[in-house]
Amino acid sequence: MSLQSKKIFAMVAYEKCDPGQCDPEEGICAAAKACPYKVMKQMDGAFEPPMVFHDMCMGCWDCIEACPLDAVRIKEVS
Ligand code: SF4
Ligand code: SF4
Repeated sequence: MSLQSKKIFAMVAYEKCDPGQCDPEEGICAAAKACPYKVMKQMDGAFEPPMVFHDMCMGCWDCIEACPLDAVRIKEVS
């Protein structure tokens, strides 16, 4: 199996994610804000967990570094 058949992307651990805790004032996801490719978004607005558009994730991990609650993980599928 070649490495290219593997896909790596960021995934939100929803059991840990809590926008009201990481940003009590505005409920803005720091991880989504940090994504340079805008593929992580709070689709349902502030105080709601973000979604990742897996197919477009570039695997740069800026979101992982930005999340204060350690709620973004690397997911790998082959
Ligand atoms: S992914 Fe992290 S930064 Fe984003 S809302 Fe959840 S806990 Fe906050
Ligand atoms: S790994 Fe990079 S491209 Fe993918 S969601 Fe996180 S910040 Fe965005």
